[in-house]
Formats: sequence, structure tokens, C-alpha cells
Amino acid sequence: MRFIFLGAPGVGKGTQVKRLSREYAIPSIATGDMFRGAIAKNTPIGLEVKSYLESGRLVPDEVTIRMVQERLCEEDAKGGYILDGFPRTIKQAKALSDIVKQSNNKIDRVFYFDLEKEEIKRRVLGRRNCPACQQVYHLTYDPPKKDGVCDCGATLVQRKDDQPETLDTRLSVYQKETTPLIDYYERQNLLTRIDASGTVDEVCEKVRCGGMQALSP
Ligand code: ADP
Ligand code: AMP
Repeated sequence: MRFIFLGAPGVGKGTQVKRLSREYAIPSIATGDMFRGAIAKNTPIGLEVKSYLESGRLVPDEVTIRMVQERLCEEDAKGGYILDGFPRTIKQAKALSDIVKQSNNKIDRVFYFDLEKEEIKRRVLGRRNCPACQQVYHLTYDPPKKDGVCDCGATLVQRKDDQPETLDTRLSVYQKETTPLIDYYERQNLLTRIDASGTVDEVCEKVRCGGMQALSP
């Protein structure tokens, strides 16, 4: 099964992907995580994309598409995956469609996470990340046991691009480059709208009932 989780930065895609990829035993492929991993390891691609992530702009399509194409060829992705944060432009969506067709597969469903802007901002601004175990928290909605410290013991950080100045850029980039995908997938009858308000459990249930359960083996 091949799924796309589409929606604004901070809407809660990653949180759901982590749960559902475990539940349905398919890998999650999150381009933002892949780029951050490359930056942390100082790889050539990391050096190339660092300034884009820090300023909240999209990494050029060619770089992103090449990275995803390579990832989708890996053994664990052969039986399916959940894409989180990709595609983000029409060009990426068309490239994905070609990649999937080449292996005689198809995208089964696109879940579009819909949430009002003020709540998106609250989710992003309150997000805190663990640089050691990658756990994601929220200051109010999902706080760690001890303030500022991951339950694994490491000090939590706020992503640079989650700070207010960069967040505005990311939201306008999302509006301009990514929202056209809603229409694009709707016209292909692939889109399921998920009301992303509510608790993590509630949203998870909406995705299961919105088709993920029925489509998964
Ligand atoms: P995305 O992957 O879409 O950027 P995340 O999954 O990282 O978003 O979620 C952004 C923030 O919102 C995180 O701090 C997360 O803990 C929190 N969050 C995710 N889903 C919910 C929810 N349903 N209710 C409240 N907070 C949530
Ligand atoms: P995310 O973790 O999904 O919020 O992504 C963080 C950042 O990584 C984005 O602001 C972009 O700079 C970059 N990025 C992630 N996915 C893509 C993509 N599909 N296309 C271009 N840039 C991306």
C-alpha cells in the first residue's frame, strides 16, 4: 500500500505517520527527517540543503526527487510506504507518479490533513524535539515528564524553522506551492480529507476509518 500524508507543516502528519506505519508495518518516508539527518551528518546533500531548511524555503525539486527516488528503491519500500512531506509541489507529484508507474504500482490514497491556521501555529510553535532519540513533544499537548528534558534524558530543542519568523515563510510557501496538490489529487479521486483537529488518538481513528484500514492488507 502506498499512501501520501499531505498537509501544512505542523498539522500533525509525522505524529500520525509514526503510529500508523508501525500499525500497518510499512515504512514512513519523511523528506524533512531525511534532510535533517543529512545535515546532522554533514553529507554533501546535507550541506547543499541546509540553507533552504533554515530559511523555510523548499529544497529544489531535482534534489528532493532524486533523494526520494533512491529511497523508494530500497528493499523495505518495495511493499509500500507512507510518504510524509512529499510531494510538496506539482512537479514532485508528477515525478512520483512516474516513479510509481515504472514499478507497476500506484498511489492508493492521499490523506489531506485539514486544520485552521491558528491551531497549526500553536502546534508548530509548541513543538520540541529530542536530538538524541528523535521523539517529538508539544509543550502543552504532549509535554515531557520533566520540563525541557526528553524522557530519554537528552535536552529538548526547538527546530530553528519552527520559530515565528521562519514559520510565516513556511506557511506561505505551503500555501503557494503545496495547496495546489489538494485539487490535483482530488481530480484523480485519490484524496481523503481528514479533519486534523482533536486529540492524536481521535485523528488516528479518522485516518483508519478514512480508508487506511480498509486498504491495508
Ligand atoms: P508535522 O509532521 O505535520 O509537521 P507533527 O506531527 O510534528 O507535525 O506535529 C506538530 C506538533 O503538534 C508536535 O509538537 C506534536 O506533538 C503536536 N501534535 C500532533 N498531533 C496533534 C494533535 N492531534 N493534537 C495536539 N497536538 C498534536
Ligand atoms: P518538514 O520536516 O516536512 O516540515 O520539512 C522541513 C523542511 O525540509 C522544509 O521546510 C523544506 O525546507 C525541506 N523539505 C522537506 N520536504 C521537502 C520537499 N518535499 N520538497 C522540498 N523541500 C522539502
